[in-house]
Amino acid sequence: MEYISTRGSAPALDFAGATLAGLASDGGLYLPREWPRFTEAEIAAMAGLPYAELAARIMLPFVEGSLTHERLLELTRAAYGRFSHRAVTPLKQLDEQNWLLELFHGPTLAFKDVALQLLGLLFEEFLGRSEQNLTIVGATSGDTGSAAIDAVAGRAKIDIFMLHPKGRVSDVQRRQMTTVLAPNVHNVAIEGTFDDAQAMVKRMFNDPGMTGRFNIGAVNSINWARLMAQVVYYFAAGLQLGAPHRPVAFSVPTGNFGDVFAGYVAAKMGLPIARLIVATNVNDILHRALSTGDYSAGEVTPTAAPSMDIQVSSNFERLLFDVGGRDGKALAAQMGTFEASKAMQLTNAQREGAAQLFSSARADANDMSRAIRWGWEEAGELLDPHTAIGLHAARTSGIAREIPVVTLATAHPAKFRDAVERATGQRPPLPSRVGDLFEREERCAELPCDYGAIADYVAAHAVPRAG
Ligand SMILES: *Cc1c(COP(=O)(O)O)cnc(C)c1O
Repeated sequence: MEYISTRGSAPALDFAGATLAGLASDGGLYLPREWPRFTEAEIAAMAGLPYAELAARIMLPFVEGSLTHERLLELTRAAYGRFSHRAVTPLKQLDEQNWLLELFHGPTLAFKDVALQLLGLLFEEFLGRSEQNLTIVGATSGDTGSAAIDAVAGRAKIDIFMLHPKGRVSDVQRRQMTTVLAPNVHNVAIEGTFDDAQAMVKRMFNDPGMTGRFNIGAVNSINWARLMAQVVYYFAAGLQLGAPHRPVAFSVPTGNFGDVFAGYVAAKMGLPIARLIVATNVNDILHRALSTGDYSAGEVTPTAAPSMDIQVSSNFERLLFDVGGRDGKALAAQMGTFEASKAMQLTNAQREGAAQLFSSARADANDMSRAIRWGWEEAGELLDPHTAIGLHAARTSGIAREIPVVTLATAHPAKFRDAVERATGQRPPLPSRVGDLFEREERCAELPCDYGAIADYVAAHAVPRAG
């Protein structure tokens, strides 16, 4: 499979190249040149496969040319062998219509493990074939950082620099990053918001002074391989609820638009998806964009669901490209407008294309607390704040009763136990797999939100490009 940039001028790459590059050199994001599509019979034949086998089957068309089916299956078995639940992403029924897809059984308790455990192995695989080292630079609102660090800690030929907004991630999230003392892990707390941190990372990808000296790679969901791995659990849930013969809707707690875009890819590949509900908190740029066509960033408001405290959703660009006729030049101009003014209008084609599959909803702090309480009192489940926002959107969506609605449970409730305790009076215990997190030593640099300071720090600690 060949990968092309959403902005039309970066060179096309194969899967290994797109995985190691992350962001395209023209500032765009990589997407496969075309969507592979399974027939109904092929989808029906996937029912009942163990997760790792399903994953290899779904992903094979995307990795062709870079990995054999055999090798891919070895990697998915290794990645998903580290999950604490046999089903990897178990599905639970909440009431007649609503289901919960639990994506938090990986090592760091959030859905990002599903993709990053595999991505760590893919990096190692592709670097092993070259002379290159990889310098991963990422920004996190909490969960990406811990999941990425767990996935690459101690791996050969990789350094990871993870920027988080100081004081804006939960204690559990911070400790899951800062207590990993492997020498290739570099945590940086910056004075600023997640969007500030992400802007620093984007700038570094476009800074020839850095990209010329270091082989810089991404673990944020701008990396195509992450989205690819997330497509699998949409199929896993759909198959359990009757696909390909019965449509299913999904409600997705959304920040950077990566997870819900994977649902869009699943639909493109033939999974019958009735609707994808984009659930946001009060940082609702995506809700506004999808409901009115106005994509304009406001100030970030910190909430109890920090992984969704985002005003600029990188992966939305992928959707705009695909539903807008895949015109890289036009999209580059549109994104240029947005980058200059923090505002743009969707075209009619983009709005209509998105509306065919997506709807959206916004939940404030009260909606979230009520959904956590409903989950506990009516279904006996403790929900984390992100998941609760998804459930609120699912329960207010008005989707026909015969269509099951699956809310993606993106984090374990123990990861955000203060908010869960406030809503329910129950304090979810930390699962034993995270161990003695609160006794371990922490290590973290603190830097101002200043590009020069951050670039100097990375340059001082990374391994330069070979040759
Ligand atoms: C990252 C994250 C999200 C948002 O996912 P995107 O792919 O960025 O839209 C939602 N919930 C949790 C718990 C997360 O960690």
